Amino acid sequence: MNSFILDESKCTGCKICYKACWLDVIRWDEKTDRPFFAYPQDCVECNYCEISCPSGAVNIKIDYDKPFPDAYISGIR
Ligand code: SF4
Ligand code: SF4
Repeated sequence: MNSFILDESKCTGCKICYKACWLDVIRWDEKTDRPFFAYPQDCVECNYCEISCPSGAVNIKIDYDKPFPDAYISGIR
């Protein structure tokens, strides 16, 4: 599975990455006021969250050995 690596020292809590994820993989933790990777199995490594972060705090680490994500192929079958 892919990993969401967050650099806490750079994150400002702006929520842009959370809003940017069009597959709802990233959710918002109200207690810590930080994003978290709630549904890593659905991440399609588009990197939109990573490039949207104005602080460069997000790094999506791609697992190249994982099966093809369902989110890409649902509707095709
Ligand atoms: S976009 Fe970047 S700075 Fe904003 S909440 Fe996400 S990780 Fe933090
Ligand atoms: S890489 Fe794409 S699918 Fe994965 S968490 Fe970021 S925006 Fe969502």
